[in-house]
Amino acid sequence: MSRIYNFNPGPSTLPLSALQKCQSELLDYKGTGMSIIETSHRAKEFEAVLTDTQALLKELFAIPENYKILFLGGGASLQFAMIPMNFIPRGGSADYIVTGAWAQKALKEAGIIAAGRVAASSEDKQFNYLPRTADLDIDPQAAYVHLTSNNTIFGTQYHTFPEVKGKFLVADMSSDILSHAVDVSQFAMIYAGAQKNLGPAGVTVVILRDDLAATANEGVPTMLSYATHIKGNSLYNTPPVFGIYIMQLTLQWMKEQGGLQALENINKKKADLLYQTMDESDGFYRGTVQPEARSWMNATMRLTTEELEAAFISEAKAAGLQGLKGHRSVGGIRVSMYNAMPLAGIEKLTDFMKDFKAKH
Ligand SMILES: *Cc1c(COP(=O)(O)O)cnc(C)c1O
Repeated sequence: MSRIYNFNPGPSTLPLSALQKCQSELLDYKGTGMSIIETSHRAKEFEAVLTDTQALLKELFAIPENYKILFLGGGASLQFAMIPMNFIPRGGSADYIVTGAWAQKALKEAGIIAAGRVAASSEDKQFNYLPRTADLDIDPQAAYVHLTSNNTIFGTQYHTFPEVKGKFLVADMSSDILSHAVDVSQFAMIYAGAQKNLGPAGVTVVILRDDLAATANEGVPTMLSYATHIKGNSLYNTPPVFGIYIMQLTLQWMKEQGGLQALENINKKKADLLYQTMDESDGFYRGTVQPEARSWMNATMRLTTEELEAAFISEAKAAGLQGLKGHRSVGGIRVSMYNAMPLAGIEKLTDFMKDFKAKH
């Protein structure tokens, strides 16, 4: 077996131990004579997986008591629609901090369902920075303020969050959830597609505070209503069982690593090494975002020509470093270094970057 260093932006690398545990349990889950994905979602074996996954999230992320933890289908993209459907009152609107393509998509859905308003946008500079508190124009009537904590495509990340004048703050944390310690109580809702930091595609985590949940509109279709999933503890219908199970194994791995503070320390080390290599390359590798907004999860850079970028990607691939192509909308190089990417992967990549620079 030979596993490469996988820098894919999502779905992305998972902890080897989680994959191995899944492999070892796949044919006969804890003596049941079947796999967990062949088990009823109402059986005690799956109930234990669900309960433990919630408990691990609660412990690792220090989620206070007044939040519900839900596992839903439809990806983070369905949340873009469910949030305004549930939480913008008739005739009302919500505010969006637009820091990239995902935020734009979230704003678009708000506009289809009710009304979305731009509280701030960094589009004037190709999304290379993040609006701060002073940049925000918050509507006193806004039902909530929505932001994207980490911009997977443009390579920016909020390391501290802006103040939103006491409004409900809703965050799409799809690409940096559980990568660093966050004060969850700042947020009325956090959601994340699992396929970057938490597990495979197919399950979305929603962490929803009771006071925001209480404002939900009546008349929302059953499956699109948070109240349904709160009432059913994510078992109203068949939940994404495989995704939840792999998430459990991934969270167990995170706990074994020492929890969020330990992961944050490693993620910072990885990002520091990568950006330092970039900054010391005399302009050979040029970061695309303002230094204070740099993401620890997705580092974006350009080389001097597209030919050189293509050579970088193919030579890296030959060296066992895959998934480094920037998003099709922006080009260049993107280094996705989620929790499961070990420091050794970044060391190998930065050595490769130095060799490649010397060669070209
Ligand atoms: C990947 C991603 C999404 C989309 O997630 P899906 O689960 O594919 O819908 C949304 N927001 C951010 C920040 C992402 O990185």
